[in-house]
Amino acid sequence: MEENALQELLAIVPEERVFLDLAERYSYSFDASFGEYLPEAVVQPLNAEEICRIVKLANRRRIPLYPRGAATSLSGGPLPVEGGVVLDMTRFARKLIIDRENLLAVVSPGVITADIHKKAEEAGLFYPPDPSSSHVSTIGGNMAENSSGPKGLKYGTTKEYVIGLEVVTPLGDLIRTGGKTVKNVTGYDLTRLIVGSEGTLGIITEIILRLIPKPKARKTLLAAFDRIQDSGHAITNILSSGILPAAMELMDNACIRAVEQFQPSGLPVDKEALILVEVDGHPAAIEEEIRSCEAICREQGASLVKVAGDEKEREELWRARRMVSPAITQMGPTKISEDATVPRSKIPEMMERLKQIRDKYRLNLVVFGHAGDGNLHPNIITDKRNKEEMRRVEDAVGDIFKAAVALGGTLSGEHGIGLLKAPYMEMELGEAGLAMMRRIKEAWDPNNIMNPGKIFPQPGRTKAVLT
Ligand SMILES: Cc1cc2nc3c(=O)[nH]c(=O)nc-3n(C[C@H](O)[C@H](O)[C@H](O)COP(=O)(O)OP(=O)(O)OC[C@H]3O[C@@H](n4cnc5c(N)ncnc54)[C@H](O)[C@@H]3O)c2cc1C
Repeated sequence: MEENALQELLAIVPEERVFLDLAERYSYSFDASFGEYLPEAVVQPLNAEEICRIVKLANRRRIPLYPRGAATSLSGGPLPVEGGVVLDMTRFARKLIIDRENLLAVVSPGVITADIHKKAEEAGLFYPPDPSSSHVSTIGGNMAENSSGPKGLKYGTTKEYVIGLEVVTPLGDLIRTGGKTVKNVTGYDLTRLIVGSEGTLGIITEIILRLIPKPKARKTLLAAFDRIQDSGHAITNILSSGILPAAMELMDNACIRAVEQFQPSGLPVDKEALILVEVDGHPAAIEEEIRSCEAICREQGASLVKVAGDEKEREELWRARRMVSPAITQMGPTKISEDATVPRSKIPEMMERLKQIRDKYRLNLVVFGHAGDGNLHPNIITDKRNKEEMRRVEDAVGDIFKAAVALGGTLSGEHGIGLLKAPYMEMELGEAGLAMMRRIKEAWDPNNIMNPGKIFPQPGRTKAVLT
């Protein structure tokens, strides 16, 4: 960074919150994907006013800005691909107010999502979006990625719970979108535009979240299938039976074996697939619902069904699902986590296509995911030092996206586009759709300083950035 620009930056933020040493900058050069890009400087802003001043400076000097929460992004979202300044939001003022009367929470972007779950539940309320990373990721990162998790099936994604935002625009102005009212139809819905914009349209500095009453009870079952297609049919049959489970998770045989190798918990390693179904609501209703789910699983060929009798047994069933990520991480040094999503009726077909892709490219491809909402996570376990295998991985990733879009699905159900999926955007949106998004970006950010290099395909890049 030019000396004059640096002096201007230091006039806004004191030097103990500006990192310039190589070792410090290196700590900010990666996220939970596998890309690595070194920023020129890292700044830890404490309030919106500091951010406004930094953004104005960045516009004058054309410095790229990269907002960053906990860097758990799996699509390369906060990576400083064009150098510039990383804005580390983790020291930003930590406000977390639960407004019980209005069923709201007002929070700062650096708050850890699990802290919102905890505080809301202490007040008898519920904040449903539950990314598996919620114990580490920030609510600001969740906003930018429109994150969700198993409960997305019944309760929807982050965007369903955001009714107001405070945002520093890419030109350095502080604006508010939406507000504290449940209804708000004044003008364009900028809140929805910002949620999911992956740090390309501004920096979120405050969030107003809608909370709902906490469900009174829940019931969980685990069903094992000899054929993966049968598990897909059980999922679609439960959904068309009139029951809306809170979560419906799927693990394929490779996941089952990985979990058993990692921490043995008595899972049937000879089965092709396991599904986990949870219903929540009134105790009388969920008792009947879980029995219907059990009957449907058996009708579709489940060779084993277990309904948790109490909270301890429920925890044990969920433990297996939670172990999947850490277990498959042990299978190889590089884990490419995808989240191609298809309409739920297409799950059996997508599973079949994934099997073909695994065989065609001879890869260690395992599948788990939120099958109830069609959001599958094909994970390829590889080693980024093996260049020949990485080329096959790159082609396989392209085929996964093509299969998802061909089945009427999407490139991302929850991990966002970031750096890795940008080359495939036109395949899903079409030329005119992508051009409209570009025009929005140009109108908001004429100097292209907010998270440049993300979402939009770069000239010459036709594949994910793996090799
Ligand atoms: C083990 C594991 C499990 C995961 N499970 C899930 C899951 O179940 N569901 C899911 O949806 N995701 C999941 N993720 C992905 C990731 O956790 C989410 O995308 C999360 O929302 C990122 O939050 P973060 O605080 O880490 O943000 P970062 O990774 O730091 O940043 C993500 C994006 O948000 C932008 N950003 C961050 N803060 C702001 C701000 N204040 N204003 C504007 N832009 C900002 C960044 O520029 C970047 O584009 C998982 C990741 C891991 C490692």
